[in-house]
Amino acid sequence: MNDILAKLNIQALNQGVSTGLNWINTNGAVIDSYSPVDGKLLARVTTCSREAYEQVIATATAAFAEWRMVPAPKRGEIVRQMGEALRENKEALGQLVSYEMGKSLQEGYGEVQEMIDICDFAVGLSRQLYGLTMHSERPMHRMYEQWHPLGIVGIISAFNFPVAVWSWNSMLGWICGNVCIWKPSEKTPLCAVAVQNIISKVLKANNIPEGVCSLVQGGRETGEWLAADTRIALISATGSTRMGRQVGAAVAARLGKSILELGGNNAIIISQHADLDMSLVGAVFGAVGTAGQRCTSTRRLIIHESVYDSFVQKLVNAYKQLKIGNPLDQHNHVGPVIDKDAVANYLQAIEQCKQQGGTFLVEGGVLEGAGFESGCYVKPCIAAVTNDMAIVQHETFAPVLYLIKYSDLNEAIALQNGVPQGLSSAIMTMHLREAEQFLAHTGSDCGIANVNIGTSGAEIGGAFGGEKETGGGRESGSDAWKAYMRRQTNTINWSTQLPLAQGIKFDL
Ligand code: NAD
Repeated sequence: MNDILAKLNIQALNQGVSTGLNWINTNGAVIDSYSPVDGKLLARVTTCSREAYEQVIATATAAFAEWRMVPAPKRGEIVRQMGEALRENKEALGQLVSYEMGKSLQEGYGEVQEMIDICDFAVGLSRQLYGLTMHSERPMHRMYEQWHPLGIVGIISAFNFPVAVWSWNSMLGWICGNVCIWKPSEKTPLCAVAVQNIISKVLKANNIPEGVCSLVQGGRETGEWLAADTRIALISATGSTRMGRQVGAAVAARLGKSILELGGNNAIIISQHADLDMSLVGAVFGAVGTAGQRCTSTRRLIIHESVYDSFVQKLVNAYKQLKIGNPLDQHNHVGPVIDKDAVANYLQAIEQCKQQGGTFLVEGGVLEGAGFESGCYVKPCIAAVTNDMAIVQHETFAPVLYLIKYSDLNEAIALQNGVPQGLSSAIMTMHLREAEQFLAHTGSDCGIANVNIGTSGAEIGGAFGGEKETGGGRESGSDAWKAYMRRQTNTINWSTQLPLAQGIKFDL
């Protein structure tokens, strides 16, 4: 791994705060980054002090004045070059993501590919920041709207997508004319250092002002500074619902803008009309991929009673085949969870599930011995439950899969919707009416609803996000860019009169 760190210019200490072109010395506390893969100390990173934070904000504010004057398609050209730089570094960065976060190498590469894809998307978008034109009710008047940049965008990200979520926000933020400050997860600080190094080369090569792309390493407190800061126009925060409640309240208290991307509790409905082989792949990947640590991981399977026994049999057999181990070894299906706290949460969830009446069909447990020295490898497990159990209503960020039986599609949809979260959902069915019922406004209440694919994994072209406790934010594709801009409505009078709207008379 040392050669990867060298390739990505990671020198550890003093790579905690950057305003884009340079690293800033800071006397903040130090974060140790341990790999969940083997428990080894990867590197240590200095966090942002309050003094350095003020410097970052001042530099970002000055940079915004310059960056917003760069025409949007020219900003797109810089983002295009960033996409190229990410292509060149895909292998090394993908490996670091896998090693620091613990996801499989394929998923590590996939995450970097997602960064490249959003760059391509943003480049095209930089020529398409369209506003509408309207017909005025007054003669010789013209109405239209334009979209202007906001200023500073603060990005708070979670450990499970240590680099992709930042790129969804920053690439759109930049082509919209904003400058960005990133507070990555304290659990994956090195991925952020690596990205900052890759991006800073592009910034330097193009004489982009210091402050367009800033990084502030730190934990919750650093995130709180951003959330409360009136100088930051938009906070985009990805993480747990607990975090989102606090960040949402802090930003709302100052009447700022926020995009909240929070926890999910995603279900797949497996109908009696499903292709069961296809359903099996979707369910197993959804439940055990990234060791159950995706916001879109499949947490619940809602299975029709007529196929319940046969499908569960297939599922249990598939779980027996799962290979758990080093995620950099491509033969393994399941890597570690992020840290020992995550292991403790997993064990606690299993215990609570049992206490609340759940029956385990595949038992969980923590793996020990050679190859599992980090103490972060857990067995994916399956329990038969009822939807109303407190533990089933809660997002456990680990590979614990809950099974629920249904007899009628209305009931299945009610079960699917019957949780506080509303991120991703899916139905497996070959029956057109069932699929349409699931997608109708009376069907799934989630931000993402799929037919014949699982809940996890999304393409960057669509708007990503969810309802209810998932926070309501949308990022990435479609018209998600609008959240990074302010809309201005303009009315121009080219007549010789000053008629008032609604026909109001005001004679002098
Ligand atoms: P977390 O909430 O513990 O931390 C997320 C980020 O928020 C970190 O950078 C953390 O330092 C910061 N933070 C925590 N408390 C804060 C506060 N009070 N004020 C400001 N910042 C604060 O989440 P995590 O464990 O890193 O990630 C897992 C969670 O993220 C899961 O719930 C998962 O579903 C969710 N997630 C959601 C999406 C989505 O798009 N909906 C994507 C990825 C992850």
